[in-house]
Amino acid sequence: FAPWLDPSAVPLIRFEKVVKKFGDFTAVDDVSLDIHQREFFSLLGPSGCGKTTLMRMLAGFEQPTSGRILLAGQDLAGTPPYRRPVNMMFQSYALFPHMTVEQNVGFGLKQDGLPKPEIADRVKEMLKLVKLEPFATRKPHQLSGGQRQRVALARSLAKRPKVLLLDEPLGALDKKLREETQFELMDLQMELGLTFLIVTHDQEEAMTVSDRIGVMNHGKLVQVATPGDIYEQPNCRYVADFIGNINLFEGTVAGSGGGEVRISGEDPAGDFVAASDAGLEAGAKVTLAVRPEKMRISIEAPPADARNVLKGEVWDIAYMGDWTVVLVKIDGSEKVVRVSRANMTRTEAQPIAWDDRVHVWFAPDAGVVLTS
Ligand code: ATP
Repeated sequence: FAPWLDPSAVPLIRFEKVVKKFGDFTAVDDVSLDIHQREFFSLLGPSGCGKTTLMRMLAGFEQPTSGRILLAGQDLAGTPPYRRPVNMMFQSYALFPHMTVEQNVGFGLKQDGLPKPEIADRVKEMLKLVKLEPFATRKPHQLSGGQRQRVALARSLAKRPKVLLLDEPLGALDKKLREETQFELMDLQMELGLTFLIVTHDQEEAMTVSDRIGVMNHGKLVQVATPGDIYEQPNCRYVADFIGNINLFEGTVAGSGGGEVRISGEDPAGDFVAASDAGLEAGAKVTLAVRPEKMRISIEAPPADARNVLKGEVWDIAYMGDWTVVLVKIDGSEKVVRVSRANMTRTEAQPIAWDDRVHVWFAPDAGVVLTS
C-alpha cells in the first residue's frame, strides 16, 4: 500500500461477492474487492473480461445479479446513479459538439440547478486545473484529442465526486501524449485527494498510474496487488504472461528441500532449480516464470556455480535504447528465451551478435514457481 493509504479504515468502495449475469453469460464472477480512499486503482484485463461491467455497477448503470456494493460502508442498492458520489468518464468522452469548452464543463452543474456565478467559478477552477483556461470558448472540434480528453476530465471533476471512474480514459491518445497525460492524471488525483478507479487493457498504463492493480480474466478478479508485486510476484500463469515479458518453463516437481524445488523440465530445455517454500508435492505440474532482465547471457562458459544453465543460439537482437533484448533459441527445442539488459555489450565480456552460440542462465531466486 502507498504510504497515504489507510488499509485499516473502512474501505471507500467494497465489492462483496458481486456477480453479474447477462442471460446465461456470467460477465462478472464472484468479485470481492476493497478500494481505499485516495487510492488510484486500475482494473486491468483483456477486452470482454468484465472490467467495464464492474465499473458500471459501481456507477449504478447496472445492478448486480447477486452480491453487494458498499460506499463508505453504505449499501448502494437502490441508490440511483445521479445520487451516487461517483462520476464516470466514458471512453468516447461524449462532449457536446455544439457547446463551448466552458459550457461542456458546466453542463452537469447547470442541470443540478447551481446558481450561475457559482457555476462560472467552478468552471474556471476546473479549467485552470486541467490547464485549458485559454480554450474556454472553443468548441470540441477546435481542440486536439488530448485537450478534448482534459475537457471530459474537467467536466467529470466539476461535480466534485468522491470517486472518479475512468473507462479507458487515454485510449484515443497517441503514445507520447498518453504518457504525458498519465502523469497529469496522477498529479491531479494527488492534488484533489480523490479516489480514481480506472479501466484499462494497457498493462504499461496500469503499471505507471496505479497504487494497486486488479487483474481480471473471464469475469474473475485473479490478482490484486501493487504494480511491483504484480510484476515480481504474479500468482498465476495468466498474470505472469499478461504483464510485461516473461519466460515460462513448464515442468514437473521432481523434489524439494532446503527452500528449493527441483523441476524436471517438460521441454528439452532441461531441468531447473527454483527458490520456493511452498512445499510442493513431487509430481505437481508447475510453470517456472523468469523475467528477461533476471536472465544472464554470455558467449563464454558461465561461472562454475551458475545454475539453470541453457545453451542456444542468438535468434534476434533488438536495440531499445536504454535496453537491449536478445532472443535465444534453445538447443534441441522450439523454445526461444528472452534476455534483456542495459548496456549488454559493455557489461558482458564480449559483444553479442546474431547466430552467436551463447549460454543463458538464471539464479534459483530469479524466478517464480506457479502452480496455476
Ligand atoms: P472492453 O475492454 O472491451 O470494454 P471489458 O472487460 O470492459 O471489455 P465488459 O464491457 O465488462 O468487458 O463486458 C464483459 C462481457 O459482458 C462481454 O463479453 C460483453 O459482451 C458482455 N456484456 C456486457 N454488457 C452486456 C449486456 N448489456 N448484455 C449482454 N452482454 C453484455
